Amino acid sequence: MSTETKVQEFAQFINGEWKPGCGGATFDVLNPADGEVVAKASKATAEDVNMAVQSAKETFESGVWSKKSQKERTQIMLSFAGKIKEHAQELIYLEGISTGATVRKIGGADIMQLILCLQQTANMSLKYEMTEHLPVMETFGPNRTQLVREPLGVVAAITPFNFPLVLAMWKIAPAIAMGNSIIVKPASDTPLGTLKLAELAIEAGLPKGVFNVITGLGSEVGEALVKHPDIRKVAFTGSTEIGKKIMEQSASTVKKVTLELGGKAAAIVLPDADFELTIPGVLLGVFFHAGQVCEASTRVLVHESIYEPVIEQLAAMTEKIKLGHPLDPSTGMGPVISEKQMNKVLDYIESGKDEGARLVCGGKRAEGPGLDNGYYIEPTIFADVTNDMRIAQEEIFGPVLCVMKYKEIDEAINIANDTNYGLSAGIWSRDVTTANEIATKLEAGTVWVNEWHVFRNDAPFGGYKESGLGRELGMQVFNEYTELKSIITSLTTENKQRQALGLIF
Ligand code: NAD
Repeated sequence: MSTETKVQEFAQFINGEWKPGCGGATFDVLNPADGEVVAKASKATAEDVNMAVQSAKETFESGVWSKKSQKERTQIMLSFAGKIKEHAQELIYLEGISTGATVRKIGGADIMQLILCLQQTANMSLKYEMTEHLPVMETFGPNRTQLVREPLGVVAAITPFNFPLVLAMWKIAPAIAMGNSIIVKPASDTPLGTLKLAELAIEAGLPKGVFNVITGLGSEVGEALVKHPDIRKVAFTGSTEIGKKIMEQSASTVKKVTLELGGKAAAIVLPDADFELTIPGVLLGVFFHAGQVCEASTRVLVHESIYEPVIEQLAAMTEKIKLGHPLDPSTGMGPVISEKQMNKVLDYIESGKDEGARLVCGGKRAEGPGLDNGYYIEPTIFADVTNDMRIAQEEIFGPVLCVMKYKEIDEAINIANDTNYGLSAGIWSRDVTTANEIATKLEAGTVWVNEWHVFRNDAPFGGYKESGLGRELGMQVFNEYTELKSIITSLTTENKQRQALGLIF
């Protein structure tokens, strides 16, 4: 894939059409690999939000999608998955020039996830009970009761920069499967692929106005969406800091919210761990996508008996990770998303040094041919980290691994749980029975055993503690995109069978 780019212009995608923002303003989208402008996107205002919500609401109320049968919706979702497959190269390119993600990540993980998420969510929705019948109950007179699931209306999805397409799809798929309309607001660094996705949905037969994309700043557009009275639910993925704001902003209209927030996962390496699996597994766990993954294994707790050999092997294997341009298929690790993010990560590295952690490898901005203008950071490993250090407590969101030593397994479990986050955790051991027992003691929504970064569309994902609220994926996700109504119908025409009348007569 050529690394040459020309600046493209992107309007918003509302009601099936490309629409420039009402104010006419745009913002630049940069390539983190070289800091060059690759696109200009519409900078939406509150007026654009009102327009998008109004048209999504009209579409919802028209019934053109919300009243379709589950089977009809599934067919269109499957054809949408087909369109993504057909246009995969274009999506890979748009994401490759603007997100810092490597083509290996986008092609090898993201696109596959998108397609599978749509297909499997569509198929799972066919098994989801939209109507349940409760047994006849005699108390207060015989009645039959149906529990009916109904779509919510207009849903807002606010997504982060690290997996723009996948995390949008985790919201789009269940939302549209249940008949809702959705407005996605991608992170302002990375709107391109999501805009293309909306266009593909229309080509696949999704009615206009069901899936809309609005672009702009979180503090303006995001907030206007969250506060809008006609938005029935906000599905947010991003930092815990902004997640807390979203919860506050949703309070005045008592909106439903799901929050997928930050993480500070610990991987526990037991003395019997198989190094052949553990060393590359830990490194993939932390350095995939330059460490910008919410569930990354940023803290690794290693038993004292194998502590130094593990550190040595982690450092040796880290040298094999090739930094380079995201569009070069030989690149293993690209840049972080922005100069701001790079400086934040470098500050954390300095704080690790200041607090007495031992720098084993990396530790600075990466230099070399092709890297100098990009926001590249050397994959960095700190040893002798203690859990009270900032690098062990705060989410760095960059390629920085903290290695800690433990003696007893209970000590390791305590350290793993000693964090405000609770998104994921993991155990590396040959003894899967012990590993599964440890898994029950870890406060995290996902626990991997001898594995990392593996997702299934039928397994819910979400966080304990300050890592989130609610779950995405799995059958349960449909509960998050529907209202539940109880319809209670009397089965008698005899007043004498209605004991409730006796309460006042
Ligand atoms: P962020 O919180 O800065 O931004 C996320 C989104 O919120 C963006 O679209 C942004 O424009 C918007 N936003 C910002 N301020 C807003 C406001 N006041 N009102 C409404 N919307 C607003 O996150 P980021 O830097 O894009 O992504 C990194 C973070 O996302 C990390 O903390 C990471 O752990 C988290 N994350 C979590 C998961 C998960 O599934 N739990 C997955 C990926 C990323």
